[in-house]
Amino acid sequence: MANSHDFKLSASTANLKCTDLLPYKNTDVTLEFLQKVVDVLKEFVMQTNDRNVKILDFRHPEDMKKILDLEIPEQGLNLQTLINDCVSTLKYQVKTGHPHFFNQLSTGLDIVSMAGEWLTATANTNMFTYEIAPVFILMENVVMTHMREIIGSNWKNGDSILAPGGSISNLYAFLAARHKMFPNYKEKGIATIQGQLVMFTSDQSHYSVKSCASVCGLGTDNCVIVPSDINGRMIPAELERLVVDRKGRGHIPFFVACTSGTTVLGSFDPINEIADICEKYGMWMHVDAAWGGGLLLSKKYRHPRLTGIERASSVTWNPHKLMGTLLQCSTIHFKEDGLLMSCNQMDAEYLFMPDKLYDVEYDTGDKVIQCGRHNDIFKLWLQWRAKGDEGFEKHMDRLMELSAYMVKRIKEMPDKFYLILEPEMVNVSFWYIPTRWRGVAHSAQREVELGKICPIMKGRMMQSGTLMVGYQPDDRRPNFFRNIISSAAVTEKDIDFLLSELDRLGHDL
Ligand SMILES: *Cc1c(COP(=O)(O)O)cnc(C)c1O
Repeated sequence: MANSHDFKLSASTANLKCTDLLPYKNTDVTLEFLQKVVDVLKEFVMQTNDRNVKILDFRHPEDMKKILDLEIPEQGLNLQTLINDCVSTLKYQVKTGHPHFFNQLSTGLDIVSMAGEWLTATANTNMFTYEIAPVFILMENVVMTHMREIIGSNWKNGDSILAPGGSISNLYAFLAARHKMFPNYKEKGIATIQGQLVMFTSDQSHYSVKSCASVCGLGTDNCVIVPSDINGRMIPAELERLVVDRKGRGHIPFFVACTSGTTVLGSFDPINEIADICEKYGMWMHVDAAWGGGLLLSKKYRHPRLTGIERASSVTWNPHKLMGTLLQCSTIHFKEDGLLMSCNQMDAEYLFMPDKLYDVEYDTGDKVIQCGRHNDIFKLWLQWRAKGDEGFEKHMDRLMELSAYMVKRIKEMPDKFYLILEPEMVNVSFWYIPTRWRGVAHSAQREVELGKICPIMKGRMMQSGTLMVGYQPDDRRPNFFRNIISSAAVTEKDIDFLLSELDRLGHDL
């Protein structure tokens, strides 16, 4: 990031205070100040897209505290200091849209979506009523209906809401499922359920699913973990065995969360087979497609991965992941209309008066367990307007194509890289092999050693600031790298850079 001296306000403005801005005073000063902030932001956008600029300037927390002045002062600071604060904030921020950032499921800096976020911030409204967000509420309606139609033709008349993240979206699914089965729970509480509720999800599922069991009073022991196969997909026969086992103990199996695009391996549970079991035992099927949902937009990759999704009762789908919408943007969809409202409605009289001027069907606030809700729709709507369905489809296909390229390059260098499994998505899981382990037959011992070097290499990546790739262990293996390609900035050259940079950073280990 450039230094703050590149962002100088005029001498007459620099020493003024926030009380010299609107709404207190001066239009010209306000415009100059805002223009300067925008200049700082534009510089960050340029640097994010510059491959010669580092992804991050890493400092340890103790050092960072010394470099930055984060204290809240007694007397307000002047406008130039605020500009300088903006500059230094971005100077030490990780550039998550950098073409060499492969670290997270949410990456990239979509310019249109970002512009939408700027507008959202400026409009600064709350999404609970049509009264104060008329345009945004209608947009939300249109986009949510469009997404449901993409999930399945029988979903058009369902219901959806944008939630603060996939974890909360999963929680909404759980709440609606319990409400559907036990409509009295809302008023009468836990005593209305005669028996132990149990839910099921695979050992690869996102931890937020299990968290529903603890938040909602089941206890995590009653979130039954179903084993997955070697490719990370839930084993339907195991699900059925565990359902029967719990029924035999007098429990009430009611909810199954399958995952479409697991967080670590990018695997897809077999939805149709799981749907059959859910129908047989009268359980709600939720599909957590927070990560893999984007592939619904691709004719080429949707099947077989998401085949059967229209049989679900609810679907979580995070545009802020594969679709590259700015954080955060997460959606939860229901096939049946009315459940969100009847489950969550509290009829707060000061917000949701039934005798308003307009059709109060458009007020969303009583469908959610929040009160106020952030406007996450505009940036998605604008981005979708820009791309069209076709643009998103191309984007999905491109990400998958780049992942296939990475797999191909890894296979071409078996001395340096070990591919852990054929990915179904853009998660590429592998070990890097340093010089001393090359030509040594792969074994459990070699895995342990290759696992040990992952954190060292990650440390080197962060110190050099040239690359970011995530690593983790799972219950089958020690640490391994999980590379994510979900940014429109990435090209084949960047993948070549990634592989050669890993070699540069790790060959001597
Ligand atoms: C990321 C993810 C979530 C959680 O989404 P947040 O928006 O981070 O809360 C849930 N499920 C899956 C499969 C995910 O990959």
